Amino acid sequence: MKVEDISAETLGGLNEMAAEGLIAWAIENFGDRAAIGTSFQLTGSVIVDLAAKRFKSFRVFTIDTLRLHPETYAAINDFETRYGLAIERFQPNHNKLEKMVSRFGEYLFFMDKAKQEYCCDIRKVEPNERALDTLDVWITGLRKDQSEGRGTVPRAEVIEQKGRKILKLAPLADWTAEEVRRYIDEQRLPYNTLFDKGYDSIGCIICSTPLIPGDPPRAGRWRWFNALDAEHKKECGIHVNKS
Ligand code: SF4
Repeated sequence: MKVEDISAETLGGLNEMAAEGLIAWAIENFGDRAAIGTSFQLTGSVIVDLAAKRFKSFRVFTIDTLRLHPETYAAINDFETRYGLAIERFQPNHNKLEKMVSRFGEYLFFMDKAKQEYCCDIRKVEPNERALDTLDVWITGLRKDQSEGRGTVPRAEVIEQKGRKILKLAPLADWTAEEVRRYIDEQRLPYNTLFDKGYDSIGCIICSTPLIPGDPPRAGRWRWFNALDAEHKKECGIHVNKS
């Protein structure tokens, strides 16, 4: 199947499918051209497990910014062991990273919003685009209740990526945080242990911090920008639709 051949009716049907069925449909129809992208949020644990219940082999990739928390690297190893997976790691382009660091230093994200976005572009967005070059179906862990900006995330949508159509799935779009956590506990899944230390959304070390009572879910990201326009400060660019 090609993404271009997916009719509006099929897309509508995908948006009605439960998580397990949607993941299975993607892997059955697209094989290695479908991949789960995860940064080892709790939703990643659930999606990988749902895929593993139906398939012995399937693709999982992560963006290794080279600044992940030790607990995140440990989670990657735990998943590989539990499911017998070789998780694909997409890292920043070495030359672009060198150029950025030699010009602005390692901690440019503290300077201003533009430098934070530049850092995210080099360490996350560009490697993620390279990952997307290898697939037709991108299975994500986005959920509607993660932030106001994600409140309308569909379970299935076709996006443009470098002039090419990609089917982007969010099988857990309608799951609540409590449902995700319950599934992990009931199935005794491996997960990123930062979630036991007050974190609710995990990215790079320094840029993601634990929540304090009363914080919205993504307040721990780039905390020093919280006094500004919160919604704009809480996306790294990976899930900004360019179509
Ligand atoms: S989260 Fe922070 S360190 Fe990681 S890529 Fe973005 S700005 Fe850079």
